[in-house]
Amino acid sequence: MTRKLFIPGPIDVRDDVLQKMATPMIGHRSKDASVLQESISKKLQKLFYTESEILLSTSSGSGLMEGAIRSCTSKKAAVFSCGAFGDRWYKMAVTNNVKADLYKVDMGKAIDPEMVDRVLATGEYDLITIQHNETSTGITNPVEEIAEVVRKYDNIVFCVDAVSSAGGVKIEVDKLGIDILITSTQKALGLPPGMSICTFSEKAIRRAGTVEFRGTYLDLLDIYKYLKKKNYQYPSTPSISHMYALDYQLDNILNEGLDNRFERHQAMAETVRAWAIKHFKIFTDQNHLSNTLTVIENNQNINVSQLNSKLMEKGMQIANGYGDLKEKTFRISHMGDYQIEDIQNLLNTIDEILGF
Ligand SMILES: *Cc1c(COP(=O)(O)O)cnc(C)c1O
Repeated sequence: MTRKLFIPGPIDVRDDVLQKMATPMIGHRSKDASVLQESISKKLQKLFYTESEILLSTSSGSGLMEGAIRSCTSKKAAVFSCGAFGDRWYKMAVTNNVKADLYKVDMGKAIDPEMVDRVLATGEYDLITIQHNETSTGITNPVEEIAEVVRKYDNIVFCVDAVSSAGGVKIEVDKLGIDILITSTQKALGLPPGMSICTFSEKAIRRAGTVEFRGTYLDLLDIYKYLKKKNYQYPSTPSISHMYALDYQLDNILNEGLDNRFERHQAMAETVRAWAIKHFKIFTDQNHLSNTLTVIENNQNINVSQLNSKLMEKGMQIANGYGDLKEKTFRISHMGDYQIEDIQNLLNTIDEILGF
């Protein structure tokens, strides 16, 4: 039985999209490979509202997060964290010998733009990282306000992890002045896991040119230069199967209409929030709720693992809380190609199991 996955990735992939993964191979140095990548890039530029070049990496999103902080920090990175994925970005800096400081807020809270301003005013930093959507706590950070702060400091390379939101929420990369926006295939884009995507601005290109030790496989400048020189090809073999599926799925997304897609995500989020408030409590700061996933405080002391086992018998799965928040919270993702009816059906099934 196929299971509907309401976890924050991987999520269900439409059958027609899955079928595209089975397209016969082409050589990665062929003209067809160039045409395929160029087509993907044009569509992604629309989805991300950007004229920056698009880079793909045959790694999950973590690969590009590591590549970004390593390739583009010259002086020191300021890593802002409101949860597990922010912490992970800091670890990537430290383990790559990239100078960085970590600025954390409590779990369930958003990054405060004033804090970003205070940190940048020190003049110590030339790159910042932030989660657009923090998947461990269900926060969507106030990126517009943070972008306004970042704009005051023109040496800052602005890196945004939108792994669990891009494709489900509107993120206007150029308007916000985002230099590197990162996402993965297996979340709101509704594709199988295995590839990641980023935008790469002129400022990021210039910065990377000043960084000596950028690594090799995840050196964003090397990928960019190769792409430019060899007409949309990659230094090493990309996952061509993903590229076929991505190119096709982007048509689905653009045909749905971006605004329709973003509104559908919001409607799914509102449905889950209303249910959560009725039976439990929302864990996350109410002013910064995510449209792609909801983190619910388990104030009824239900056994989340047991609930999930019962859900699985009915062909569905939700996510327990992340790390220390396990059993204290649980998470329902509402991203990708799900419709309101799918969400409603999940919530009805949970009601049945819990006797609500
Ligand atoms: C899932 C996730 C990641 C990690 O992405 P992978 O594709 O698993 O490497 C990073 N950041 C956020 C916010 C995520 O939700």
